[in-house]
Amino acid sequence: MSNPTEPTPPSSAPVVPRPQVPHRDLLQLTVLPDEAELRADIVRLRAENNAVILAHNYQRPEVQGIADFVGDSLGLSRMAARTDADVIVFAGVHFMAETAAILNPEKTVLLPDLRAGCSLADTVTAQGIRDWKAKNPGGLVVTYVNTTADVKAVSDYCCTSGNAVQIVQSLPEGVPILFAPDRFLAAHVIRETGRQMDVWDGACHVHEAIRPEDVQGQQAAYPDAELLIHPECGCSSRILSAIPDLQLYSTEGMIGRAKTSAAQEFIVVTETGMVTRLEHDVPDKTFIPVSRTACCEYMKMITLENIRDSLLNLQPRVTVPEDIRAQALKPIERMLAIG
Ligand code: SF4
Repeated sequence: MSNPTEPTPPSSAPVVPRPQVPHRDLLQLTVLPDEAELRADIVRLRAENNAVILAHNYQRPEVQGIADFVGDSLGLSRMAARTDADVIVFAGVHFMAETAAILNPEKTVLLPDLRAGCSLADTVTAQGIRDWKAKNPGGLVVTYVNTTADVKAVSDYCCTSGNAVQIVQSLPEGVPILFAPDRFLAAHVIRETGRQMDVWDGACHVHEAIRPEDVQGQQAAYPDAELLIHPECGCSSRILSAIPDLQLYSTEGMIGRAKTSAAQEFIVVTETGMVTRLEHDVPDKTFIPVSRTACCEYMKMITLENIRDSLLNLQPRVTVPEDIRAQALKPIERMLAIG
């Protein structure tokens, strides 16, 4: 017989406390607004703030869908230079928002997620360029637009994949050319111009990871498809050694080629977001990504939610100190003047 003064032994059945608040609150979940609601908020806030949304070709489909302008780095730089909006929301990565801030010191430039960086831009620093110049006196530094404002400030010319060949062709003969930071784009420029260049050893992790085997696998699956290869891709040199007369295309160049080519199917050898842009601009043709993993996690950090929040709070802002801005403006303006 049990003693009534002794505590009752624990039951083997688990004791489940009755929740004091709904489970959703315990997990701190909130119901997401639907996309139509988000889009309506963005449209309203954009008008209230006299804002423009500029989106890179590698952005998510729904972000490209809400943007005022979708394009490559060069097109976005041009739009940033000519917009009369008071606020620029940059649906892209940090160096692109910096470029917009360099061109528009009087405007508010927003990057909806400040973590949106670029592995290629991170391969080079301003001090690295200064040291390189010191070892190559008289050399002209051409840097890809995928660089920080600090790096642009110590460069002579900027370029994008769309005009790198034209920029290098415009430089005087016999002058050493220092090209940074993308070694795959540099190889393309050397092939196209015949100019010798000293090349920085940088690459984008997304484009570098695209292998010739990825391209060949898609060619086997889609034998009638034409190749659209971006010059930043790690596969480009090996593919070109097999098909020497193959053209490489900047992202804007891909649009033009897809429109004019007789082909109906294309294998898109760059970041997967480009497929969205091509499907929008050339709706009667089929575009196949080279690989599902050719995806830039930095670009995909921009969402409808953080675009809405950035317009609501006018944060986070990207600014460039005036002394750096004034220096960085020169190579950008030279680029915009040439091509
Ligand atoms: S795709 Fe590569 S180059 Fe473009 S933003 Fe992403 S990391 Fe940078």
